[in-house]
Amino acid sequence: MIICDTHLHTSFSSDSQAPMEDMIKEAIHLGLKTICFTEHYDADFPEIESGLDFSLDFDAYYCKWKELSEKYRDRIEVLHGIELGVQPHLGPELDAFYENYGGRYDYIIHSTHLVDRLDPYERKYFDSYGAKEGLGRYFEETYENLKVFDHYQSAGHLDYAARYMSKPCPEFSYRDYGDLLDAILTHIISRDKALEVNTSGLKAGLDWPNPHMEILKRYHELGGRRITLGSDAHRPEHMAYDFHKLPDILKEAGFDHYEYYKKQKPILVML
Ligand SMILES: [Zn+2]
Ligand SMILES: [Zn+2]
Repeated sequence: MIICDTHLHTSFSSDSQAPMEDMIKEAIHLGLKTICFTEHYDADFPEIESGLDFSLDFDAYYCKWKELSEKYRDRIEVLHGIELGVQPHLGPELDAFYENYGGRYDYIIHSTHLVDRLDPYERKYFDSYGAKEGLGRYFEETYENLKVFDHYQSAGHLDYAARYMSKPCPEFSYRDYGDLLDAILTHIISRDKALEVNTSGLKAGLDWPNPHMEILKRYHELGGRRITLGSDAHRPEHMAYDFHKLPDILKEAGFDHYEYYKKQKPILVML
């Protein structure tokens, strides 16, 4: 059994209503040993119809986490993380954020949620780019973002945009983006970072987690050994979503262990 879920949102994230305590109770119910909250912080997020801005009250989040992690410490380990939405122009701003607040986090996820200021979640993204080019542009932006901000432990949902390709979802082929994906994976490996396996792809109806099995296999082939696991749940019922599928997925891709991070240092768990 997978013992930790390290990509979780609560009502401190602008797109979740879930009280933190409900999430902790669900994790205990599921028998998890460790969870890590990773609230959204997307600086300079463009205005969108829903009005969500993905800002974060760092101190309020920290205080609530401290209170509840202590309250439940005998039953579960609750870690304090953050999911940073990176954009190519945000390097200096995120470095300053890290300088001021970085030390308090156990775990920082590097995520790309926007391409050319547009979230692939919005329908007009794939309507204007088409499937293949839309995904390709997403990878290009991700590569730029990885180069501008380095204070993270794991690269989140590397093919996030694929979740929102029109249905039926076109077949993914590594070869279509081979050079670019090789450059991304090589960069992640050379910086000694982890790659996240995020099961919300399965929840979104894909046949694969984010990222695709071919990307996981290639990461391993290129020498990548650091894997983190998360459901990206925004409500209790989605916690550890399809985690029973993960051991087979990871073994098929060549891995015999995964990791979670505490005070930004890896803790290794054998499969
Ligand atoms: Zn995300
Ligand atoms: Zn997330």
